[in-house]
Amino acid sequence: MYRNFKVVPNIIFGRGSFNQLDDIISQQRVAEGSYILFLVDDVFKGSDLEKRIPVKEKDLVLWINVDDEPKTVYIDELTQKARDYSSINPCGVIGIGGGSSLDIGKAVSLMLANPGSSTEYQGWDLIKNPAVYHVGIPTLSGTGAEASRTAILTGPEKKLGINSDFTVFDQIVLDPELVAGAPADQRFYTGMDCYIHCVESLQGTYLNAFSRAYGDKALDLCREVFLGDDSEADLEADDKLMMASFFGGMSIAYSQVGACHALSYGLSFVLGLHHGIGCCIAFDYLDDFYPEGVNEFRIMAERHNIELPRNLTSGMDDEKMEKMITVALGLDPLWENCLGPDWKNIMTRERTKELYMKM
Ligand code: NAD
Ligand code: ZN
Repeated sequence: MYRNFKVVPNIIFGRGSFNQLDDIISQQRVAEGSYILFLVDDVFKGSDLEKRIPVKEKDLVLWINVDDEPKTVYIDELTQKARDYSSINPCGVIGIGGGSSLDIGKAVSLMLANPGSSTEYQGWDLIKNPAVYHVGIPTLSGTGAEASRTAILTGPEKKLGINSDFTVFDQIVLDPELVAGAPADQRFYTGMDCYIHCVESLQGTYLNAFSRAYGDKALDLCREVFLGDDSEADLEADDKLMMASFFGGMSIAYSQVGACHALSYGLSFVLGLHHGIGCCIAFDYLDDFYPEGVNEFRIMAERHNIELPRNLTSGMDDEKMEKMITVALGLDPLWENCLGPDWKNIMTRERTKELYMKM
């Protein structure tokens, strides 16, 4: 059976396209008393962007903090804040920020329309009711969260997304101007998330012409951005990386990520590392899995003066190590994509531990 997958129906791309947000959402403001809920990364508090958010009288702006990656308790808390604010649902939820904020936007728009806690929906196709109309506006490029059908959340038991067709944004606004102020190291880590998506997709057993078409293009764009001529205007690099992120997301949507992502989930769950940096740390030890990709990654890291943290697992107690291994090996499709159906015989707990011990 081939998967019949949902894509974002409306996309705007271009410098300054954020200015069209007012027009776009005004079409949603039809019902009497309706309001828009803006969920905005608090890094933008007091910034020029804040002044440009088209907030109307009845709207609610919630500043969100992503020092920790999105947790289910945080989603439930934000959903409750919106419910306390009004007895009716907003006519739109707008998520503005990096991958964490986009996922928060997706998850809150789903939870406003579905009962219970977000923990109950971590998994595949557990959502029953369509989400509130939701818009994603990335301010970092690389995760592909703008394109995907998942909102990745850390719950008490697991780090797992709310995967459903209803999760997909109704609209995305891709404005490369919004990424301009991102710190260089964060830009690199999130950009490498895209690079790694492409390597894992293109070398996976799930590969098909659809995923290859998007993955090849996204990989080329990453190379232009991170290995290209230094004289190339930065402006164009931001445009390219934004498209690479979207294409990388489309590539994995019809295939899967692999070993690096599985291991990075363990690192995030136990050590609280953010996704981009966690992927970079894990990837650096995966020569046996992705030799060419890892080699090229190191050249890019050196070129951008990136010093990865080391010795993260030294002195870690057994319980944490075992948890990390369990989280990583719990991601069956990722390992199957990487190593084929026989992966359990290849990727043993011992081998996983050996890799983690090096990090
Ligand atoms: P992020 O959203 O976690 O943000 C990282 C840091 O950058 C934060 O401190 C944030 O405040 C800051 N930041 C964001 N934009 C900025 C800007 N323009 N200027 C200055 N600072 C800025 O980073 P990310 O790497 O984009 O996202 C990682 C998250 O995405 C993780 O939670 C991960 O689970 C999720 N993710 C989701 C998917 C998906 O398909 N849904 C895929 C991959 C990753
Ligand atoms: Zn990723």
